[in-house]
Amino acid sequence: GRKFFVGGNWKCNGTTEEVKKIVNVLNEGQVPSQDVVEVVISPPFVFLPLVKSLLKPDFHVAAQNCWVKKGGAFTGEVSLFNSKFKFDVSCLCSAEMLVNLGIPWVILGHSERRLILNESNEFVGDKVKYALSQGIKVIACVGETLEQRESGSTVDVVAAQTKAISERVSDWSNIVLAYEPVWAIGTGKVATPAQAQEVHSELRKWLHANTSPEVAETTRIIYGGISFYLSFVLLLFILNLIMAARIKINIIHYMYIPKAADGDSCGKHRKYKIADISFSCMFLYMYLFLIAFGIPVSGSVNGANCKELAAQPDVDGFLVGGASLKPEFIDIIKSAE
Ligand code: 13P
Repeated sequence: GRKFFVGGNWKCNGTTEEVKKIVNVLNEGQVPSQDVVEVVISPPFVFLPLVKSLLKPDFHVAAQNCWVKKGGAFTGEVSLFNSKFKFDVSCLCSAEMLVNLGIPWVILGHSERRLILNESNEFVGDKVKYALSQGIKVIACVGETLEQRESGSTVDVVAAQTKAISERVSDWSNIVLAYEPVWAIGTGKVATPAQAQEVHSELRKWLHANTSPEVAETTRIIYGGISFYLSFVLLLFILNLIMAARIKINIIHYMYIPKAADGDSCGKHRKYKIADISFSCMFLYMYLFLIAFGIPVSGSVNGANCKELAAQPDVDGFLVGGASLKPEFIDIIKSAE
C-alpha cells in the first residue's frame, strides 16, 4: 500500500525561538512509527539547517521551493514573471544546495507560488524535473482556483498541471502529489471530504490513463486546504450577529420598561428580558469556546477534521499549513493510524 504522508508547510513563518518550541513538540509527540507514516517538515529556508539539526531522525525536512536549474548569477530572491523570457526568475536556493545541506525534499508548484509569483505549469514541470535529477524528492502541488471550480474545469486544471510534470518525468517514485484547492483556503467556501476524495480519485484515474497503472497505484496523493468545520463556525457567527441585535433590542426594551409601580406584571417582564439576554449570550460563549479551543475558522486541515479526511480511500496524507505550527499537528500525524 501507499505509506501515509504528512507534510508541515510552515510557509513564511517563525522565529528561532518558535522554531525550537515547535520542534520540541514534534520530537516529544507520541506518533506512529516511520513504517506507518512519513513526516516531512518544511520550514523557511533560513531555518532549514536549524530544524534539520534539532529534529529527531524519524522526521524529514523539505525546502519550500528551489531553482529550476543549476544555481549561479541569480542574486537574492527575484520573483517576477518575465513575459519576454516566459519564465519566472526566482532563486532562493538551488537543488544542489539542498543536496549539500542534506535536505531530501522540496515543495514545488505551491498555489501561492503559482498565483502570487506566476509560476506556470511548464515552469513547475521543469523544476520538478531538475530537482529529481539532483536526487531531491518532490511534493508537487496542484489545485484549482474558485473561478475554475465554478466553471466546472477542476479536473481539466489539475490534469493539465499534472500533465506538465508527467511530460518531463517518467519515474514517479520520488514524487508526492499534493491536491490543494485554492478556493478552500481562507475564502469561506466549504470543501467536504467527499469533494476531496472525488478530485483525488480523478487524479489517480488520470495517472492510470496517462502514466501507468503502477504509478497510479503507488503515487501518494495528499490533501491540503479544507473547510470542514467552517460551515458550523460560520453558522455560529451569523447566530451571534442575530443575537447581538436581539441583545441590543432587549437592553433598549429593558431600559424603557418602566419600573413596576403597582404590582408584578412589569417586574415579570423585566425578569424575562434578563433571561433572554443571557440566552442570547450563549451563542457568543459557544463561538468564543470554539475559537479558544483551537477549531480554526479558516479552511484548512486540522486536528478535528483530519480523521474523516484520512479515511477517504484516495487521500494518502496531508500537506498542512497553519496547523503544522501548532501542537495539533501531532493529532494530524496520528490520523495515519
Ligand atoms: P493551511 O493549512 O494553512 O490552509 O494551508 C494549506 C497549505 O497551503 C499547505 O501547503
